[in-house]
Amino acid sequence: MELANRVQSLTPSSTLAITAQAKALKAEGHDVIGLGAGEPDFNTPAHILDAAKRAMDEGLTKYTPAGGIPELKNAISAKLKRDQNLTYTNEQIIVTTGAKHALFTLFQVLLNKGDEVIVPAPYWVSYPEQIKLAEGKPVIVTADESNNFKITPEQLKASISEHTKAVVINSPSNPTGMMYSEKELQALGQVCLDNDILIISDEIYEKLVYTSEEHISIAQLSEELYNQTVIINGVSKSHSMTGWRIGFAAGNKTIIKAMSNMASHSTSNPTSIAQYAALAAYIGSDEDVTKMREAFKERLDVLYDKLTSIPGVECVKPSGAFYLFPNVQKAAESGGFSDVDEWVKALLDQEKVALVPGSGFGSPQNVRLSYATSLDQLEKAADRIKQFVNNHQ
Ligand code: PLP
Repeated sequence: MELANRVQSLTPSSTLAITAQAKALKAEGHDVIGLGAGEPDFNTPAHILDAAKRAMDEGLTKYTPAGGIPELKNAISAKLKRDQNLTYTNEQIIVTTGAKHALFTLFQVLLNKGDEVIVPAPYWVSYPEQIKLAEGKPVIVTADESNNFKITPEQLKASISEHTKAVVINSPSNPTGMMYSEKELQALGQVCLDNDILIISDEIYEKLVYTSEEHISIAQLSEELYNQTVIINGVSKSHSMTGWRIGFAAGNKTIIKAMSNMASHSTSNPTSIAQYAALAAYIGSDEDVTKMREAFKERLDVLYDKLTSIPGVECVKPSGAFYLFPNVQKAAESGGFSDVDEWVKALLDQEKVALVPGSGFGSPQNVRLSYATSLDQLEKAADRIKQFVNNHQ
C-alpha cells in the first residue's frame, strides 16, 4: 500500500540512528553514556504525583472540555500574569497534549498550502516537519556562533516574502540554549509588526535560565506584540513532566478557538489526570523547579569547562535549557573524519558516548549534548570525549 505524500516527505529523526546504535551497544553489555536525552532526569515532584492520585481516586477520569479544564486554564492565566505580567482570558488559552501538539495544531489552523514560516536555525527538529505536515514551507534562516546562534532583524527582514505567515522564536533554544535579550526581541518584533507576521514564541525552557538575565516573552514588550504573538509553553521541562503530555498555547482567541475545534476532532482533551497534575504544578510552590535549575546550572558549569578545554571543541556558553551545542568541526577535521556525523558515530563506537549530531538541527558542524544526567556521568563523558579527540589528532 502506498502511503500519503505527506509522510513520504517527512525527515526521520536525526536522533533515532544514534539512539538505536547506543541501545544495541548497551544490550551487548557496553558501558554507554547517553547524552542525547531531551528530558530532565529528575522525578516529577511529589505534590504533583499526589494531585494525580487524588484525581484518580475522585473519579476525575472522564472526558474534559477539548481545550482543557477551566481550573487549569485559570492557573495558566495566573502563571502568565505572575511570570510575564500578561493578561489572558480562558478563551485565549488552550491546554494541549504537550507543547508539541500545541505547535502541531497551531500550524494546522494557520497554514494554507505554500504559506511560509520562518524558522531560525539551529532549530528544534519538529518545527520544519510540522510546518510541512500542514502543507506550509519552512524558510530556514541560519544563525551561527558569530552572533551567538541568534538571528538579526536584518536576516529576518531578508527572509520575508509575500507568502510569509509566521516566525518561530524559541528562547531559550533547543538545541543551543541561547536566549534573546529584551532589546533583541524588540528589534525582531518590530520587523514582525511592520510585515504583519505572527510570532510563535516557544517558551518551553523559560524556567531553565542560568544567567542573571531574565527570561522575557516577546508578548510582554508592547500591546501590539501581545496581539501578534501566540505563546507556547507547558510543564514538560519546567516540572520534569515530559511523560504527562501537558502543554498550552495562549494568544488571539480566534486562533485558539480554531485550535480547540481541531483538538476536538483529533486528540479530544489532554488526559484528565495529567491536567489535574499540571494544575498542581502551576498553583504549587516553585521550590522543586528551583532545585532542578540549580542542579542543571552546576552541571552546565562543570561540563562547559571540561569540554572547552578539549582541542578542536568550541562552544558558546548557553544561557538556558539543558543542552550544550559545541562546534566540533575542527576536531573532526584534524581526526580525519569526513564530517561531524562520522565523528559522532566513531565516538560512540570507540568511547561509548552518545551525542546527537547537529545535522538534524540544521547545523552540521555542531553536536548536541544534553546535561540531563548526573554530574558523575557528565564528567566521565567529557573525559572520554577528550580521550577520543587525543586519539585522533
Ligand atoms: N519545544 C521545544 C523547543 C522542545 O525542545 C520540546 C521538547 O523537546 C517541545 C517544544 C515539546 O515539548 P512537550 O514535551 O511539552 O511536547
